[in-house]
Amino acid sequence: MSIVKQLLDPQKICHIFKRGFRVGYCPVCGERTLFFKTGDWLRDHFFCVRCRSIPRGRALFLVLSEQFPNWRELIIHESSPGSPTYEFFSAANANYVPTRFFPNIAPGTTHHGFRCEDLARQTFGNETFDMVVTQDVLEHLLEPGAAFREIARTLKPGGVHLFTVPWYHWQETRIRARMNNNVIEYLETPEYHDNLVDAKGALVVTEWGKDLCDTIYASSGMTTTVVRIFDRRCGIEAQFIEVFISRKYANGGNYLLNRWNAQFSELEDNKTSALIGYPVEV
Ligand SMILES: [Zn+2]
Repeated sequence: MSIVKQLLDPQKICHIFKRGFRVGYCPVCGERTLFFKTGDWLRDHFFCVRCRSIPRGRALFLVLSEQFPNWRELIIHESSPGSPTYEFFSAANANYVPTRFFPNIAPGTTHHGFRCEDLARQTFGNETFDMVVTQDVLEHLLEPGAAFREIARTLKPGGVHLFTVPWYHWQETRIRARMNNNVIEYLETPEYHDNLVDAKGALVVTEWGKDLCDTIYASSGMTTTVVRIFDRRCGIEAQFIEVFISRKYANGGNYLLNRWNAQFSELEDNKTSALIGYPVEV
């Protein structure tokens, strides 16, 4: 639909005149566009008029196009994709594998066009993907450590996990709920985010804090880079806008861990784990 026709929608015109708009370039749909605001929480209320993308989706696509320009040829697994980035991944990449977790469907089988996969216990083989994408998924996982391990297992050496998540980098990670004998135990008042599979929404389990990257490293051996973009021309202006890139090292291990092991080899076995404060599995 042309941009002029879209702008004839009276609701959009109302929002645009009330809160202002910005002309720019959208990294998701790849077009010149208008960005308009429907509320003050820009993370969820700052849309591309053409594709309805929001800032975190545009930030992820900007990182994708700048740092992984061959992404259209990569074998990509996305867990729990949402609109509109799902449509653009599907159209541009023939090797894109979208999955969702359906509680009553056998893992590995297809349901409503999506392969059923639990991120914490996937049926994919080792070293299957060049890239795994998750967008605001990690805060809902009851077994995040197992999920990080599985993401690393299914990535090829040199592969990356590209993701967004609300990141409270100024405070410690806060666990809001946990599994206790197969029953969810709520440590805080339950909070839910919109979810395409469950009408009730997805329970917020973890508010990830400053230790997020350490936890990923301890769980999976992957080292994480955080990219924070502020680019009004691309409509990337919001709270919790970071894009994370966790990388699986190509040498079959992790060079930092190898260095630690070499440095502390004269100490007793397993002292490396004690030194950094948590068990390391590679
Ligand atoms: Zn767009």
